Amino acid sequence: MTTLADPVPGGRPEDLRRVAGLVARLAEKSVLGIVLAHVDTAGVCRVKTIPTGRLEAAVSGGVGMSPVFDTFLADDSIVTTDVLGSPDGDLRLYPDLDQLVTLAGQPGWAWAPVDRITQEGERHPGCARTFLRRIAADAAERHGLAFKAAIEVEWAVGLGSAPPGEFVPAVSGPAYGAIRQVELSDYAADLLAAFAAQEVHVDQLHPEYAAGQFEVSTSALDPVAAADRSVLVRQTIRAVAQRHGLRVSFSPAVFAEGVGNGGHVHLSCWRDGVNLHAGGERRYGMTAGAESFAAGILARLPALTAVTAPSPASYLRLKPSQWAGVFTAWGHETRESALRMITGTAGRQGQEANLEVKPVDLAANPYLALGCLIAAGLDGLESSLVLPEEITGDPARYGPDEAAALGVRRLPRSLPEAAREFRADQVLRAALGPVLADAVSAVRLGEAAAVEGLDDARVAAAYRWVY
Ligand code: GLU
Ligand code: MG
Repeated sequence: MTTLADPVPGGRPEDLRRVAGLVARLAEKSVLGIVLAHVDTAGVCRVKTIPTGRLEAAVSGGVGMSPVFDTFLADDSIVTTDVLGSPDGDLRLYPDLDQLVTLAGQPGWAWAPVDRITQEGERHPGCARTFLRRIAADAAERHGLAFKAAIEVEWAVGLGSAPPGEFVPAVSGPAYGAIRQVELSDYAADLLAAFAAQEVHVDQLHPEYAAGQFEVSTSALDPVAAADRSVLVRQTIRAVAQRHGLRVSFSPAVFAEGVGNGGHVHLSCWRDGVNLHAGGERRYGMTAGAESFAAGILARLPALTAVTAPSPASYLRLKPSQWAGVFTAWGHETRESALRMITGTAGRQGQEANLEVKPVDLAANPYLALGCLIAAGLDGLESSLVLPEEITGDPARYGPDEAAALGVRRLPRSLPEAAREFRADQVLRAALGPVLADAVSAVRLGEAAAVEGLDDARVAAAYRWVY
């Protein structure tokens, strides 16, 4: 369980107590440096590193970093809001020791996610991880709710020797095919070894549909830990690939056409250790609370898309009939619905039942995505929303009248359209707070402006290697 307490200047007492022992253990494992990772509003993971011997100082006083990264774009240009984007000021990064791991794919290194607070010790209103911790803490306090979450990771494996900027798949053979598994056998085995060494519990690792594409799914955790894990999993996949002469892309659309890389979110609500998505009176065993939570997410999907699919490349992926879930619809195990109701196998529903949200990709900041999905669900819960009729099959087959009658809408087709929906959504804005909400708007508009006039192939190329 991730600590939901904010860091404090001088250090969290529990961290101060254990840091010396931790440094000694890291030194025994020949860990020379620690990667301090955070994800910016655009979805890019940015890091600072410290020598292992500086960990005690980092735990008590933090590590300095400019707040300007909150309004960085994926191409490293900078936009501004009323509050953010200025070269002034400094923040302190505090590593979360609960999530510190020795990196198996990068000998000599450990990794930890950070929370960012101000020099004065206040919460930094632009910190996405702090936002998700706050949402989780509020849900526990106000509703007695806890969550389990997992983010699937899809990626494309290319040859490291490909011409600069180009993607050449590192495997041949059919989708989900044994040929691909054999061809990348050593890479995949090293990946499993690295995950095991890092105590990342893998459910499945398999070749996927698109050229060179693979997927890994990991066990569900509390939301903050799940977001941390998705960042760590990608760092590991990339590092192990590099040792095999491979290069990986997590971009939503490695190419402008065809199936992209998703980052589907699995989410469930729990109260007193009981899963609200099973054993209830509503359809498929949902409790009333779980149904309202799901309905809250469904109702806000168009606005949520600005957070869960934040890149111009996201809209190359979000196309019908590619399992990315581009219509506001839910269904029981329906892989073309944006919200897939998973009931779990017989006898295990209490552990397994959850919601899968599909219009999410790995350009999304996982902390913002999970925090906004939970905020939307909680709004549904507070308003006792009910789900509309479910769909079966592919909603792309509906004509306009049928779609309207079922309340099925196409999700935004472009980043500016998603940003418009987001700006009009008071619930998401209020959950994020004005500073973070304005940063999301400014970064999305900046990202859209950066690709104006580019055709789809150039958009795909521009974002191929940044996430
Ligand atoms: N690659 C698909 C996507 O972009 C998902 C395929 C799957 O369901 O695993 O979302
Ligand atoms: Mg998949």
